[in-house]
Amino acid sequence: MPTLLNVNEYELDLATSRMEETRENPTRTFVSIPMAVGMDGINRPIGTAGYYTWQNGHWFDTGGNWIQDENQVPQFARDEIAANRPVGRVQHGPTVTWNCPVCNEQMNQSESNAHLIAHYAEMKAQAGSIVDSGIDKGERPVTAKNTHRGT
Ligand SMILES: [Zn+2]
Repeated sequence: MPTLLNVNEYELDLATSRMEETRENPTRTFVSIPMAVGMDGINRPIGTAGYYTWQNGHWFDTGGNWIQDENQVPQFARDEIAANRPVGRVQHGPTVTWNCPVCNEQMNQSESNAHLIAHYAEMKAQAGSIVDSGIDKGERPVTAKNTHRGT
C-alpha cells in the first residue's frame, strides 16, 4: 500500500553531521471546498475542506491515507495532474556515499579525500620497500649505507 512520504528526503552524512537531500518526492496538494448557494443566493463554503495530495502517482486524503479509488478525487485535481504532472529531483548518485576506486570500499563522500591520501601513503611505502630491496642487492655501494652509522 502506498504511503505518503516526506516531500524532501534527507540522509545524515555521518562525517559532517549534515543532512544531505537525496530525493525530492514530486508532490502536489489540492484543496476542495464544498460550496453551496444559500437561500440568500450567495455561494458559500459548506462543510470542511478536503485535501487531496498527489505523490508519485498516488492520491492521499486529508489524513494522509491512500485513496485507492481515484474517482474519489475531485475531477479538477485529477485534470490538473494529468495536464501538468509534477516531476521531482533525484540525485544522480547519492551525495553521502562514495566508492573508492582503489579498494571499492563505500563511505561518506567527505571521507574520500583522507581515504585516498591513506592509499597514497600506503603505495608510497610499498614503492619505498621495493627501492630498498634493490639497494640490498647491491645497486648502491654498501659503504654509502654505513657512512652515517657507527661513527
Ligand atoms: Zn580505498
